[in-house]
Amino acid sequence: CVSQSQDFDFFYFVQQWPGSYCDTKQSCCYPNTGKPSADFGIHGLWPNYKDGSYPSNCDPNNSFNQAKISNLINDMQKNWPSLACPSSNNIQFWRHEWEKHGTCSESALNQHGYFDTALNLKGKTNLLKALKSAGINPDGNSYNLQNIKIAIKGAIGYTPWIECNVDASGNSQLYQIYLCVDTSGSSLIECPVFPKGKCGSEIEFPSF
Ligand code: 5GP
Ligand code: 5GP
Ligand code: 5GP
Repeated sequence: CVSQSQDFDFFYFVQQWPGSYCDTKQSCCYPNTGKPSADFGIHGLWPNYKDGSYPSNCDPNNSFNQAKISNLINDMQKNWPSLACPSSNNIQFWRHEWEKHGTCSESALNQHGYFDTALNLKGKTNLLKALKSAGINPDGNSYNLQNIKIAIKGAIGYTPWIECNVDASGNSQLYQIYLCVDTSGSSLIECPVFPKGKCGSEIEFPSF
């Protein structure tokens, strides 16, 4: 058959700032492997449609299998820690991400490829370095949203989307950074559509 149905249009590659997950009213729990380093961690690689909608939980017959990623576990413990409570060994978070999102891009990336691709993208996009180089540090101060975006665009070449949450005192803060990736998982692209949600024009970058 000549035409191929399109499973999805692009990925969001989403990284989270641990300080902003932890300083909320809900708080957080460090994984059994210990306090993660003060760096952005992977949240997920999410297949998306260019109309803004997205598929989820696409294949109940392709559940998470740790044995398939045994060579990636060390790298994942470091770069994809879970901060949810109760403390865990991170596996539940990876299982959730694979089953909810990864099974919807299984035509492009098998389970090993999915996690390997996310780790490679993290290695290619040093967000903390990009921000620090622009004088934007995780020191509890507030920074201009547009300046944060300009710093990342300048270092990485693509416009990010910033998702904010609120700390325990109600301040808007830098929670997650979205970058867009082509359907093969190999190249960053400009986002076909941005997520929704509000930040203040000045947002806190908490320490961790
Ligand atoms: P929240 O409602 O907290 O922003 O997102 C909850 C969950 O919905 C996320 O962890 C993610 O699984 C999913 N989600 C939210 N927005 C998007 C999106 O734009 N694309 C995709 N693929 N998933 C999303
Ligand atoms: P999503 O559905 O948005 O892709 O992922 C969010 C789910 O993963 C939630 O059920 C959340 O409890 C769980 N989770 C486990 N660890 C983490 C973490 O470190 N950060 C976030 N955002 N969610 C986590
Ligand atoms: P503009 O694209 O004109 O700079 O912004 C339009 C609106 O979107 C403004 O309210 C601005 O604060 C908001 N906005 C722009 N970029 C982002 C972003 O990365 N994250 C969030 N949450 N809002 C943004």
